[in-house]
Amino acid sequence: ARQRALAAAHQPCLTRDRHQISVLANIGSIEDTQQALNMGAEGVGLLRTEFLYLHRTSAPSEEEQLTVYQAIAQILGTHPLIIRTLDAGGDKPLPYLGMQPETNPFLGWRGIRFCLDRPQILQTQLRAILKASARHQVKIMFPMIATVAEIQAAKAMLAEVQAELRQAGIPFDEKMEVGIMVEVPSAVAIAEQLAQEVDFFSLGTNDLSQYVMAADRTNPQVAPLADALHPAVLRMIQQTVQTAHAAGIWVGLCGEVAADPLSAPILLGLGLDEVSLSPLAIPVFKEAIAKLTMAQAQAIAATALQQDSAAKVREVVLNSLVL
Ligand code: PEP
Ligand code: MG
Repeated sequence: ARQRALAAAHQPCLTRDRHQISVLANIGSIEDTQQALNMGAEGVGLLRTEFLYLHRTSAPSEEEQLTVYQAIAQILGTHPLIIRTLDAGGDKPLPYLGMQPETNPFLGWRGIRFCLDRPQILQTQLRAILKASARHQVKIMFPMIATVAEIQAAKAMLAEVQAELRQAGIPFDEKMEVGIMVEVPSAVAIAEQLAQEVDFFSLGTNDLSQYVMAADRTNPQVAPLADALHPAVLRMIQQTVQTAHAAGIWVGLCGEVAADPLSAPILLGLGLDEVSLSPLAIPVFKEAIAKLTMAQAQAIAATALQQDSAAKVREVVLNSLVL
């Protein structure tokens, strides 16, 4: 059965009535890339670049980053690579960049907040990402966006770096797509305005769940509350998808919830265009989608949204499926 699932995983992810959802991989190293392709990933939907900055005493140079981004893109061939800019802070502090212990690290100086305050670090990364885009299908994604001003500032910095490269005659993809993670509740609330600024959204349900439920995802005492299948989170996903589509942009999801096969009908039914998940979970996700029609998935999603707990949502899925 495992062999069959693996073979099927290399086909496009289609429902019984041939609706398609793109299935990409979350990765955090060069080594993950080939494994992602082996598992049937259609590209990388989230490259967590923190690994380049951890366990060292200074930030990686532009050349070092470029080498890694190109190596990953090379393995992916024509498949897309979404590079997320540095999302340090929170549970991934970088002491050498001046991050001090904080009382509430997840509510603190992390992600885009840190990068906008340390423009040199972001500019270096942007240059490396842009250079990698010259010969590969690269997209860029900014983490932890909470306000319109943040994405505008990040885009302004990107435009500055692009102008420098243009000036110097260094090639890059002028049409590189720019997206944001939707993982802070404020971003869901103002998704309509944020959609005017970007080409795509990717829902980060790991953080979105902990912020919506006010439950630290790293604290075992309360982490179970931060369940992405809680209807409170599902409603936020639904709202984000509807808003993105109304604005004419595509929307994916890169939280770990997609690795739970019970989430597959719901994510499909809520209208996501893409999911990105850990490579090992891809075959099972595709298998779950192949058993469904779009109408069934939509009915399951609609029923799930009406429940009052994550446990009941799981029951709804289990009871609707002939597994
Ligand atoms: C998320 O928050 O859902 C996400 C994908 O990002 P990370 O887990 O790296 O914070
Ligand atoms: Mg996150």
